Amino acid sequence: MSTRETVPEKATRLKRNYRVIQVTERAFMVIGDHSTYEVRRFNGGWYCNCRWTKFNGTLKPCSHIRAAEQAMLDPACQEVVKPLAQLLASTLN
Ligand SMILES: [Zn+2]
Repeated sequence: MSTRETVPEKATRLKRNYRVIQVTERAFMVIGDHSTYEVRRFNGGWYCNCRWTKFNGTLKPCSHIRAAEQAMLDPACQEVVKPLAQLLASTLN
């Protein structure tokens, strides 16, 4: 029997384990299970550079996008990764 976690379950796991780093208001780095992905928020939409999003598009958001959405609703989860977020943000300038 497969016990694969669902996309929402995976998103919750990533967010709970501080694997979402909000770099700017609209840019996130999400540490997935196979790589670290860039997630960006647009007006009314999201982008992720993972394979899932490449093939499924953003109508059915990937776990990385969902994890970023969850992180935005829970700013406390960013306290732990704040130094990392600041370091990443400084590289964008
Ligand atoms: Zn993704």
